[in-house]
Amino acid sequence: METVLLTQADPNFKYEIAEKIGLEEIKPCYSCGSCTGVCPVREVIEDFDPRRIIHMIVLGMRDEVLSSDLIWFCCLCNSCYFVCPQGIKFARIATELRKMALAEGRVDDDFLKRLEPVKAYLQDLCRRTMFMKVKEGLQGTHIMPCWRKYTAKAG
Ligand code: SF4
Ligand code: SF4
Repeated sequence: METVLLTQADPNFKYEIAEKIGLEEIKPCYSCGSCTGVCPVREVIEDFDPRRIIHMIVLGMRDEVLSSDLIWFCCLCNSCYFVCPQGIKFARIATELRKMALAEGRVDDDFLKRLEPVKAYLQDLCRRTMFMKVKEGLQGTHIMPCWRKYTAKAG
């Protein structure tokens, strides 16, 4: 477990992100783990954990989050929003984290180039995994428009 030095933490980090996605604040995360449990990327990349990344944001671990390779692995499928009791859209958060990392020069072109085939693989994996889970009856707090016909059958 890592130690967070409060002198190095940036308490405004969560507000900075919230403002970028047009919110006053990111709603309090219960740390329920539903996002992590449903995330298809987590099934193939053990270190990828949306709950943990949100926790790090709340703790103000700005450098650690923006410098992490992990923020690039979210395939933006919104499956976690589907099950989050707080309606937290991690995909929107991940998108802003990437923009911030790019603007601050925290990633190089070589990394982005190597990421391309990985992204395509993860996007395909997310699509297939989530359609399968919803078809099998997965229900969530929010309904994704593209899954409506399957959730209707499941209900
Ligand atoms: S599902 Fe929502 S409330 Fe639960 S851990 Fe994930 S972000 Fe937090
Ligand atoms: S948007 Fe998809 S890939 Fe990204 S954290 Fe949520 S469930 Fe995982």
